[in-house]
Amino acid sequence: MRRFFISSHALTTDGAQISGPEFHHLRHVLRLDIGTRIALYDERGTTYHGTLTHLAKDHAEVRLTDTLPPSAPTFRLTLAQSLLKGSKMDLVVEKATELGIHTILPFFSDFTVARIPSAKLAERVARWRRLAQAAAKQSGSPLPKITSTMSFETLLHSLPSHAVKLLCSEREHSIHLKAFVQDFPNLDAVWIAVGPEGGFSSQEIERARAAGCTPVSLGPSILRSETAGISAVALCQFLWSDIQFPPLP
Ligand code: SAM
Repeated sequence: MRRFFISSHALTTDGAQISGPEFHHLRHVLRLDIGTRIALYDERGTTYHGTLTHLAKDHAEVRLTDTLPPSAPTFRLTLAQSLLKGSKMDLVVEKATELGIHTILPFFSDFTVARIPSAKLAERVARWRRLAQAAAKQSGSPLPKITSTMSFETLLHSLPSHAVKLLCSEREHSIHLKAFVQDFPNLDAVWIAVGPEGGFSSQEIERARAAGCTPVSLGPSILRSETAGISAVALCQFLWSDIQFPPLP
């Protein structure tokens, strides 16, 4: 069954309307017809099954038959990813979404190489949100929250009190990420930060430590930032998540 994203505002009493790019995909790419069974999912992670009942010029109408509430993930993973050059940030957003990330916090730090003019930042975040929407649609994973970009200082001032807070550092040689499973076998939230191509500065690592973050190693090799971001999400999900995505229809 094909999946389409809708805003929860597009829901009516027993149905929904699909418009915009999702309607274009349904009507002109997939050429679905009235009577076709489809699945819808919204920004809250709720999945709906329904039947196409009407195809207008600019929207489709769906009669909903089932509603599957979001499987309440008992594990919420937040990735704080330093801005990266070119399409590397796109790659991290897409792969982290496929892996079930809950929140992505794009930030810039002392050695961030990517230079995005502030006038373009909002557009870049909108692009990452579109990429995440497409990745969630393809993979069936929940749609992550992607915040606006922020400075490293702002990031440290917004640390969640209840989550285990980790900072990936290739200069950390005593604590490996997996050591945390012995001490914290069951966690409901992890916040993990990955530095830019130039890495974190020593001052940043000390400020993060003072703010309650623990520098951790992902292994002996020096990974590219995008590799570290994607691996950190995969490892944390593997170590702590038991998230069950709603069964793909
Ligand atoms: N300063 C590094 C160097 O000497 O080339 C480059 C930093 S690395 C390309 C970018 C980011 O990936 C780092 O800030 C860190 O967050 C993460 N990273 C890379 N390898 C890592 C490792 N083995 N363990 C933990 N984090 C790692």
